[in-house]
Amino acid sequence: MEKENKIIIAIDGFSSTGKSTIAKHLASELNYLYVDTGAMYRAVTYFAMQQNFINQSNFDKEALVTSLKNISLQFVYNSELRFSEMHLNNVNVEREIRSLEVSNFVSRVSEVSAVRRKLVEQQQQMGREKGLVMDGRDIGTVVFPKAELKLFMTASPEKRAARRYKELLDKGHKVHYQEVLENVEQRDLIDSTREDSPLKKADDAIEFDNSDMGLKEQFERVYNLALHRISKA
Ligand code: C5P
Repeated sequence: MEKENKIIIAIDGFSSTGKSTIAKHLASELNYLYVDTGAMYRAVTYFAMQQNFINQSNFDKEALVTSLKNISLQFVYNSELRFSEMHLNNVNVEREIRSLEVSNFVSRVSEVSAVRRKLVEQQQQMGREKGLVMDGRDIGTVVFPKAELKLFMTASPEKRAARRYKELLDKGHKVHYQEVLENVEQRDLIDSTREDSPLKKADDAIEFDNSDMGLKEQFERVYNLALHRISKA
C-alpha cells in the first residue's frame, strides 16, 4: 500500500540555487532517498583530472570515454553526518569533488554524451522503487520525464555566488568571491547551451525564484506541493 503512494520528485535548476538543501530536507521529512546527481558528474570530473585527461589546456574526451567502464560511483551513507557521501572506486571523494577546481571543469565533462548515458542509467535504476528526491539539471526533462512533481529553481547569479562562496569558506576552501561568481556564470552558460540534455525548465515544472525567499517559506511551499502530489498518486 505504502509503495503505491511513493512518488518521484525532480528538482532542477541553475548552480547554487539551494536545490540540494531543499531536496535533502524534503527527502528526510518524507523518508525518501535523496540523490545529488551533481556529485556524480563531479566525481567523473575528478577521475578525469586524476588521470590527466582534463587540464587547463587540454581535454582528451576519447580517453575519458574509453575509461568510463573503470569508473564505479556509489553513495555511501555516513551515519554520523546523516548524509550520503560520494565514493569513486571505493574511495570517499566527497571533499575533493566540491573544490572550485572540479567546479571549473565539471560542465565540460558533463557535455560528453557517453558520460551522460552512463550516469542517467544509474540514476534511473535508483528511481525504480520511487520514493526518491533527485536534484540536477536534466532530472525532470531526461532522467524522469514522468516524475510526479517537478521543481525548477532559479535565483540571481550574485545571490547564488554569495551562497556558494560562503559554503566553500565554511568547508575550508580558500577562494575569492569574484572567481566563484565567474564559475557560477560560466557553468550556467555551458549547462544551458550544451547540445545533449541542456538545462531547461520542463513544461510541467513549477518554477521557484528564491533570490528573496527564505528557506523556511520555500520549504513549506515545496513540502505542501509534495504532500498534495503524494495524495493523488
Ligand atoms: O549540482 P552541481 O552544481 O554540483 O552540479 C555540477 C555540474 O554537474 C553542473 O554545473 C552540470 O554541469 C553538471 N550536472 C549535469 N546534470 C545533472 C547534474 C549536474 O550536467 N543532472
